[in-house]
Parts: sequence; C-alpha cells; structure tokens
Amino acid sequence: MPRKISELDRKIYYYVLEKGEQGIPQNVLWKELGITSRDASRSLKKLEELGLVKREPIVYGGRKTFRIIAIPGALKEYESKEKKEEIIKRPLIEIKKFVDIPCMHCPYIDMCYEGGYYDPRICDWLSGWIVDNVYGRRRVRRKK
Ligand code: SF4
Repeated sequence: MPRKISELDRKIYYYVLEKGEQGIPQNVLWKELGITSRDASRSLKKLEELGLVKREPIVYGGRKTFRIIAIPGALKEYESKEKKEEIIKRPLIEIKKFVDIPCMHCPYIDMCYEGGYYDPRICDWLSGWIVDNVYGRRRVRRKK
C-alpha cells in the first residue's frame, strides 16, 4: 500500500531539491524551514525509504548529521504511481449494482446471444444500463 506524502514531506522535498546536487545538512534544513528536528527526521526517514531523497552521513559544524540530497523527478513519479494505483483499486461500478444489470432479470436471457434476435451487442436495455451506470459514473468522477 503506497504511503501518503504529507504537505510537510512535500515542502521538505522541494526545499532540498532547490539545493541541487550539493544538498543540505539535516541540522541546517530543519532550522531554515522553521520546523522541529523530530518532524524533519521523521519526514526525511520516510522520504528516504520511498527513494525520494538520499542521506549521506557527514560531520557539519563539528556534529554528526546527514547531507540530504533530493532525487530530481522522484516525487512526481511516486505521486503519479500512487494515483494510478488508487484508480485501479477503485471499482468501475459497485458490486451491488451488478444485480441491477437488465440481463439478471431478463425473460429473454436464454435466447440471447451474439448474432441472435436478442443480441447483447445491440440490446437497448443493456446499452441504457451501461450508459447510466458506467459512463455516467465516469463523467461524475471527472467533474470532481
Ligand atoms: S442483453 Fe438484453 S436481451 Fe439479452 S439478456 Fe441482457 S437485457 Fe436481455
């Protein structure tokens, strides 16, 4: 399951990205962003696990810390992957809607086949149901 990127994660990522290949020491980053060391550390751990930043151990100002380097394009790539997974997870129609499919209670189902007098490819009842329940839902989703 993809992990959610918070506003803070995003803010940190883009701030570090601006620093280019040189990156920024972790103990400078949180001070410049005006956030706590704990929040920065937690967020950076997540960003590193997701492959969005690199952390290299360094000594800065006489203290052990990490140099943070953002991977260009990695956040956009992660978010678009996350969006795709979300779309795939969402069913096109709800399972309970299947019982409303006209074929489920159609008196002609035994005589219905491709090329027959009753043919699912040209059935107005079935087409109408698809238009209302599948295309209609897609239109509503796009408007959101
Ligand atoms: S496609 Fe139309 S005719 Fe055929 S079973 Fe479904 S509702 Fe009935």
